[in-house]
Amino acid sequence: MAVQLDPQLLEILACPCPEHAPLQVGTPEDAMADFLTCTSCGRAFPVRDGIPVLLLDEAVDAAAARQGAGDGAVSARSAGSPADGDSTAG
Ligand SMILES: [Zn+2]
Repeated sequence: MAVQLDPQLLEILACPCPEHAPLQVGTPEDAMADFLTCTSCGRAFPVRDGIPVLLLDEAVDAAAARQGAGDGAVSARSAGSPADGDSTAG
């Protein structure tokens, strides 16, 4: 299922890259993916629980992902963050 984002929200969102380009829903390969793809640099940002994670650290390079796909080049990255010092106030 495609990401359901408020069009107004999508309008004010911008990629954290220097271009601050607008984002489009999905990825170039999968328009239904839970990602937002930058229209300039091509980075794809995950959308978790309906909340776009616009962090360069979390972004996946769509172009790089395409090259690695299908060639058995799967890099095993550690899943999840080891220590999340996130405190909620309020
Ligand atoms: Zn960008």
